[in-house]
Amino acid sequence: MDLTVAGNRVELAAARRPGTYALVPTMGALHDGHRSLIRLAHEQADHVIVSVFVNPLQFGPGEDFGRYPRTFDHDLEVCGEEGVSVVFAPAVEDMYLPDRQVSVSAGAMGTVAEGAFRPGHFDGVLTVVLKLFNLTRPDVAVFGQKDAQQLALIRRMVADLDVPVTIVAGPTVREPDGLALSSRNRYLSADDRATALYLSRALRAGAANPHKAKEAAKAVLEEAARLKPPLLLDYLTLADPATFDEVPAGHRGEAILAVAAKVGTTRLIDNVVVSL
Ligand code: AMP
Repeated sequence: MDLTVAGNRVELAAARRPGTYALVPTMGALHDGHRSLIRLAHEQADHVIVSVFVNPLQFGPGEDFGRYPRTFDHDLEVCGEEGVSVVFAPAVEDMYLPDRQVSVSAGAMGTVAEGAFRPGHFDGVLTVVLKLFNLTRPDVAVFGQKDAQQLALIRRMVADLDVPVTIVAGPTVREPDGLALSSRNRYLSADDRATALYLSRALRAGAANPHKAKEAAKAVLEEAARLKPPLLLDYLTLADPATFDEVPAGHRGEAILAVAAKVGTTRLIDNVVVSL
């Protein structure tokens, strides 16, 4: 069936067909990581909705809301190729009332790791994700492990607020050299990209040395700090997958080795699961 573009609740209702729905929330500038989530969504439900919305609430002052890549025609092509039923692409004014008051709080888990560097970011993410769920009413929603803390917080929100949606996670899609695909990779010059490769290299070194995961990753990141351009580390954490608190010494089971850094003007995040 043809792809329908909807911008609001009324248009979404008109596009609705019998059967189950899987939602893939995105900020557009779609790449193969998004495609992999759409394919996973098709395995979960009869119809797939992709939302394309650059959410101002999750960008802090001085972050890249204004220059975030917007490639809507390309995104529609991708969605058409991937058999998506509906693209939900609301305008900012249609998502947020000028007098809005109520929002979702991510709690303490939204203030650690990525949240410590982006105050309010996860409140903005959870608020828009809950709104997208209420607008599109999916049975299943698919998110990437690439944004591991976001995924953990969405699972937390669904559990804590009894949101009637099943959350499914897709693995991180990478370039052949290891760089995690990201809409922001297009900002990287060739030299930036060479430095950015050290993020995934550090995570691989960590995963290969589970007993010294953080130390092994740190050594690689220190090397990258001496490159031109340098890798400027925001944080490296070995985190509990459920809380994103740093795991205590002697922790057993799975942990997430997560990193965030700037290369030039571009901020990148990445993570791997480590079995301890
Ligand atoms: P974004 O458009 O960056 O907000 O991402 C939309 C969804 O795609 C989120 O659930 C991300 O975790 C996921 N995603 C982003 N990059 C990747 C990737 N390289 N592999 C798999 N999923 C990804």
